[in-house]
Amino acid sequence: MNILVINAGSSSLKYQLINMENTNVLAKGNCDRIGVDGNFKHTTFDGRGFDKKISLPNHNTAFNAIIDALLKGDCAVIQNINEIKAIGHRVVNGGEKFIDSVLVTEQVISDFSEVINYAPLHNPAAMVGIKACREVFGTELPNVLVFDTSFHQTMPPKAYIYPIDYKFYEKYKVRRYGAHGTSHRFVSLKLAEFLNKDIKDLKIVTCHLGNGSSISAVNRGKCVDTSMGFTPLAGIMMGTRSGTIDPSVVTYIMEQENLTPYEMEDELNKNSGLIGVSGISSDSRDVENAADDGNYRAGLARDILTYEIKKYIGGYAAVMGGIDALVFTAGIGENSEKVREMVCEGLEFLGIRIDKNLNDNITRGFDTDISAKDAKVRTCVIPTNEEYMIALDTKHIVDKL
Ligand code: ADP
Repeated sequence: MNILVINAGSSSLKYQLINMENTNVLAKGNCDRIGVDGNFKHTTFDGRGFDKKISLPNHNTAFNAIIDALLKGDCAVIQNINEIKAIGHRVVNGGEKFIDSVLVTEQVISDFSEVINYAPLHNPAAMVGIKACREVFGTELPNVLVFDTSFHQTMPPKAYIYPIDYKFYEKYKVRRYGAHGTSHRFVSLKLAEFLNKDIKDLKIVTCHLGNGSSISAVNRGKCVDTSMGFTPLAGIMMGTRSGTIDPSVVTYIMEQENLTPYEMEDELNKNSGLIGVSGISSDSRDVENAADDGNYRAGLARDILTYEIKKYIGGYAAVMGGIDALVFTAGIGENSEKVREMVCEGLEFLGIRIDKNLNDNITRGFDTDISAKDAKVRTCVIPTNEEYMIALDTKHIVDKL
């Protein structure tokens, strides 16, 4: 069974066509700059592909271009559109309405429209993607929505209610929703499989460290807390995002600099985090190189990042009454041995101890246990695969139809 996974952004459309019999990615790509001018990158499992400018006035055109690429010409991977059995869509925020992945129906589209504003940059794009898919492929083909927030819906109220006037939760549903749930779910399941343990026996802290970063406490397979909040601006510092700071800093700076709420939000989303502190880059590789060369602010940015991650790990171990495994994933988690080393340093009291040699020599793309032999806690690098998780949820739902 081939499943098409769609990740629609406001001006981009990423896709993967996955053969679920052997988990091979037949083709993947990205339609970018939709509504601006248009660029289309497509690669196949056997190394064919292109990267070219094309006119992409809207998402429907992008879908048609993707279908053409999958079916026709030098880079085709299927012969008939019927070889696509279902489409899985990544959705950033499903609010409290969606605690699981769902099959798209008219009712689901209507329910989703009620929570669309919870992720103003992403959810409307997903809706466009869903509608475009139904138009292009017809409503017979099953579409499934997989929400980044649904894994976090198991958090108890004490973890998701903010200590502000309760009316704001009642009126506007302002609460912690979290993000990257599909990744946290994938790596915690994969970790259990890798360690050959039942997930119900594990207390795990999962660190998804990329351009956007979040940390989750996964107790016996259920998320009990996560660092991102009402929006993906909360939690630890990120490439360009501040993470959680004293809310009074926000109003103080707005007053001092005469900024509107939108300008201030932009400041916290785009000019903060690694780029804000280091003044060098939002890319952790640049920051790390500069830090290693002795640049004070770059070193400070890396110190803050690893210090904050450490605090979450300690906090979440306390919340779960212990920790059996620690997972690093995503761009920084999978690739930066220095960040992993700095995070784990000093956590021996929790039973976390990594083997420097293993940590420094992991083979990229593979699940790896980097713990010292006698460490109580298994510290592992587990490459994330959100697309596969979306495809798997889609398959499970379609299998039951
Ligand atoms: P996104 O949130 O956009 O999906 P990624 O998971 O791709 O982000 O992570 C991007 C981050 O990973 C960037 O900060 C990048 O510098 C970092 N990264 C990628 N490779 C390395 C590496 N070899 N060493 C350190 N950081 C890396």
